[in-house]
Amino acid sequence: MASMGSAQMDGKRPVVTRFAPSPTGFLHIGNARTGLFSWLYAKHHGGKALLRIEDTDKQRSTKEAIDVIFDGLDWLGLTFDDEPVFQSERADRHAQVAQKLLDAGKAYKCFATSEELAEMREQQRANKQPLRYDGRWRERDPGEAPEGAPFTVRIKTPEGGETIIEDAVQGRVKVDNREIDDFILLRADGTPTYMLAVVVDDMDMGCTHIIRGDDHLNNAFRQLQVIHAMQGIEDGWDDPVYAHVPLIHGNDGAKLSKRHGAMGVDAYRDELGILPEALFNYLLRLGWGHGDQEEFNVEQAIELFDIDAVNKGPSRFDLKKLRNMNGHYIREADDARLAGIVAKKLGVEDTDLLTEAMPVLKTRARDINELADGAGFLFSKRPLNLTEKAAGLLNDEARERLTAISTRLKAEESWTIEPLEANLNAYAEELGLGLGKLAQPLRAALTGQTTSPGIFDVLVLLGQEESLARIDAQAA
Ligand code: GLU
Repeated sequence: MASMGSAQMDGKRPVVTRFAPSPTGFLHIGNARTGLFSWLYAKHHGGKALLRIEDTDKQRSTKEAIDVIFDGLDWLGLTFDDEPVFQSERADRHAQVAQKLLDAGKAYKCFATSEELAEMREQQRANKQPLRYDGRWRERDPGEAPEGAPFTVRIKTPEGGETIIEDAVQGRVKVDNREIDDFILLRADGTPTYMLAVVVDDMDMGCTHIIRGDDHLNNAFRQLQVIHAMQGIEDGWDDPVYAHVPLIHGNDGAKLSKRHGAMGVDAYRDELGILPEALFNYLLRLGWGHGDQEEFNVEQAIELFDIDAVNKGPSRFDLKKLRNMNGHYIREADDARLAGIVAKKLGVEDTDLLTEAMPVLKTRARDINELADGAGFLFSKRPLNLTEKAAGLLNDEARERLTAISTRLKAEESWTIEPLEANLNAYAEELGLGLGKLAQPLRAALTGQTTSPGIFDVLVLLGQEESLARIDAQAA
């Protein structure tokens, strides 16, 4: 007898998905992507995207760790429907389901002591058998247990046949039911196991689609046993559609680690200076595609996303690609918005100057740090701190030229790009030099650095007075 783990995609049940992160201290980039897929799937089908915080590990589930998740999702623009569900608050309901299964004879009390179970496993190991609970209390009368002895509650899983899942990403996957042992639902202290809690919550939240990382595929076979056991006991325990999304690998094909960029979403924002729309687009394209289209905003993603175009194979995380995409979104972004972000990074108040400078600053930057580095000169106080390289450019000859430039620019009446360009070009011609040769020491004097936006842009942004003061400070 095969039991099917797939609901029909007949559109009769409104789609409900959930994203169920555990607070680990950071919203891992891979998790964020499954969250995104889950969210998009619901939005695409006009359904509900729910959020559940799996906070049963008391030690890790601090308020800060939970806020990191909310914050990261919010920043990415993933607003979930209804209030988030906190798994830890539902232990009574989890226990109630276990009790119903006990009452219906679909679960049983196991009085095996931990020593006994250790011995059982030892023997299985010696006999080269798979390590799994052998069902020793499945048919035994609980009356045989000593008075008041502690017990766990185990589910009665089917002894024969197989469990089949028509996974929306992986295709048909199946497991011989003999491989699924009678796993624990309630621990001896009465607390629910993860396996029980997840299913009860999924069903109570009305989830029709479970979209998550494929590291949970094996759990699905077990979780389905609980669902099937509850069918006929309570209404609403319909098989969900499973979609197990392959994990993200590093660029070298190895499992994604910190070295590859397996950081929290907040680190992409704060340390790498990535814009949310860039990360959104990048994560979307990581394992999902629509023809050869690369760029998607939220509305397009909702319109086009569906689970059947999610790749079956693992996708590779490519930081360079993300940064290039980020550069693209920086150029698209509103200048005042970017100025606000950069001002915060630089710790300055004046967003007007930054906004004015932004069209020039953003032409090459691939992240907010580069933007901030490029903008720093605007706020430098005199005397400027020159980098070693910049200082090296200011030899005697260069300083004399700065004096001449200063004289020319003092007389300049129109402080805009074209006249300034004409003015300095004329001087370069006089000297028989390329403009670049002239611009180098000038840049050093104006910005303290050897790289900056175009030199005429720098002059215009600083204004005549400040430009001349900086030039004079370095001139001979
Ligand atoms: N809390 C689990 C995790 O963060 C996800 C559980 C699930 O999606 O079923 O890996």
